[in-house]
Amino acid sequence: MSKDKYKPIIDKAKRRLIISGGEPPISKDLSVILKLSKENKNIKEIELQSNGAIFLYKKIINKIEKHKSITEYNINFPSFDKETDKIITKSTFFGHRVKGIKNLIDKRLNVRLTFVINKLNYKQMTNYLRFIYKEFNNKPSVQFSFIQIQGNVIFNDIAPQYKNIKSELIKSLKFAKENKIKCFVDNIPLCISHPYNDMNIDYLKKKIGDTSFYEKKKVNQCKNCKLNEMCFGPPTDYVGVYGEKEFKPIK
Ligand code: SF4
Repeated sequence: MSKDKYKPIIDKAKRRLIISGGEPPISKDLSVILKLSKENKNIKEIELQSNGAIFLYKKIINKIEKHKSITEYNINFPSFDKETDKIITKSTFFGHRVKGIKNLIDKRLNVRLTFVINKLNYKQMTNYLRFIYKEFNNKPSVQFSFIQIQGNVIFNDIAPQYKNIKSELIKSLKFAKENKIKCFVDNIPLCISHPYNDMNIDYLKKKIGDTSFYEKKKVNQCKNCKLNEMCFGPPTDYVGVYGEKEFKPIK
């Protein structure tokens, strides 16, 4: 039954298969999906998304790893601070998630921590990296992803302005460089993360000719920017709410 449901979807997948929604590690369909993905030779990478708490149980990791398929465990980990984490994730499993991440690292698995930047956590970015460095022995990579709005959420209730996050973002990227933390930013125009272009996903995508991106559009001042060719512009939902004045061309 589940094989019939997933096969047409998996057959269409190219290069990277992302398994997300709910908690895939505990889905009874996961092993079906992983078996089917082996039949599609175009798939080279498989990302499994989770909040990490379930990896407290090593037998879950062992069960998944029997397939030898997952190339990246992408863990939603929005704060190093238990209270902030509780508000954002609406769960009290912070300790379980920290232990779950450590269990993945102990197994030498490839772990990425996703920090979705919002009004509650943007001031924490550098301290977050300090926590990763110390608590997880600098092993996971970190992705600072600016919040994307889906559904009926009021954008400016939860999305900070780029101009407000910029100094903390630059400080954190500097810290990451100095301490050799693999750190990337996503959904942030290059003029906001400059001079750390090589840590910006848009820049890296442009370098390999990948044009898949969340809806973005150049603004007027982009034509005078030396990074114009390497940038997709700001997200359209962002410009719709906060305007375009804060994007300053890089000379
Ligand atoms: S000014 Fe425009 S092209 Fe230049 S980095 Fe900013 S958003 Fe990108």
